[in-house]
Amino acid sequence: MSDVPRTPRDARRNERLKQGSRAARDVNPQAPRPPQQPRRPPPVLGSVGGGTSDEPAVSLNRRAIERLDAGHVWIYSSDVAGVGPTVNGGGVVHLVDGRGWFVGKAFYGEKSQIAVRLLTREDEPVDQDFFRRRLSQALSLREATAPDPDKRRAARIVHGEADLLPGLVVDRYADCLSVQTLIEATDARRELFASMLQDLLHPRAIVERNDAKVRAYEGLPLRKGLLAGVSPGPVEFLEGEVKLVADLLEGQKTGAFLDQAENRIEAGRYAHGRALDCFTYGGAFALQLARRADSVKAVDISDTAAAQGREAATRSGTGKVEFVVANAFDLLRKEAETGERYDTVVLDPPAFTKGRTSIDAALRGYKEINLRAFQMLARGGVLVTCSCSFHVDDALFEKTVLEAAADARRTVQVVERRGASRDHPSLLGVPETRYLKCLILRVP
Ligand code: SAH
Repeated sequence: MSDVPRTPRDARRNERLKQGSRAARDVNPQAPRPPQQPRRPPPVLGSVGGGTSDEPAVSLNRRAIERLDAGHVWIYSSDVAGVGPTVNGGGVVHLVDGRGWFVGKAFYGEKSQIAVRLLTREDEPVDQDFFRRRLSQALSLREATAPDPDKRRAARIVHGEADLLPGLVVDRYADCLSVQTLIEATDARRELFASMLQDLLHPRAIVERNDAKVRAYEGLPLRKGLLAGVSPGPVEFLEGEVKLVADLLEGQKTGAFLDQAENRIEAGRYAHGRALDCFTYGGAFALQLARRADSVKAVDISDTAAAQGREAATRSGTGKVEFVVANAFDLLRKEAETGERYDTVVLDPPAFTKGRTSIDAALRGYKEINLRAFQMLARGGVLVTCSCSFHVDDALFEKTVLEAAADARRTVQVVERRGASRDHPSLLGVPETRYLKCLILRVP
């Protein structure tokens, strides 16, 4: 059969066949089926805004519905079509489409650009049991991936939307918890979450680290302090075999960049010879490298970070790490030009771009530091190179690293393509929950 239609009628027929009409499928069961519309229960009379509880209704435009159907969980305020009179910021709302059909329940944020954060696609009560179940589910994932019955390690035990608890982040450091309530709805319920966490985990202390700048976008004040228990002081914990300390109340961020924990342990496995850790912060990569390397140079632009690193090195009993306060860009260029050689290099810079507009500058940054690393790597050398810029995705990051390798005339083996630790899951339909890239490369 020729593909070229002779008449408009033929063309329409061909089109139907291509789309997998019934006739085509009868002949060819492999033909693609038209996409199925997700089934939704029809609205029950009088139930709009009601359902299993009396949450107020928020209606969404078509774009929002499509976004939810495609697996996303955030709706921007511009895609909210209507808000009932009793809807309040921080409340749980009942989501309906243009015809009033139920589509889910969500946290509503009045001041946030992300007005709606989906909690469930089912018409179920969102009550204390609901949140307790969500917390237990989050905990059971961590038990499965990295059990820690003696509570000697650190882990992110609730990772916001990726654990279906939008706006709630909980990190455990040994027997203490650090909590962030990043949106109106979780902030209003922080006492509730604290008491549930207390019942589930019996921590020695629960600290709130609500001094994250993102809270300003939600109209929330910056705050830190104790939610339960006694002031924990510096908390010692293990990362792999290395002893680290987090100051839950005074430390930068919530503490220790836990998303990199598994990558740091893995980097330690490949470390050898002379090692360089750029953007070291408190030296967490450096201390893992020191387990196998002969010597480690750890570089950070901040002298408080370096001081913290020196303290951590002393505590862990290693004499192999030297902390240098310097701009890593300058140090890498200078050392590459003077012909320094390393067997192991780690690059873990801060996000070079937070938006779409500065991607080019970010790529130039990634290329520059990776180029210098490739120029300095000895034969058999290992490069652990990371990016936490969400707007530079896996493919773009790899392409940039390849360009750097090509400029340095090095052929590169990929040993591992990694992301954030398994206690930082992402949602398949929410690309924003996936940001960290970590390549372990070897130069043969
Ligand atoms: N690798 C660390 C986390 C790094 S966070 C860990 O695993 O825990 C990024 C660090 O880069 C911060 O400590 C910051 O002070 C440092 N930094 C930012 N710009 C820098 C620059 N130009 N040169 C060196 N360090 C820099």
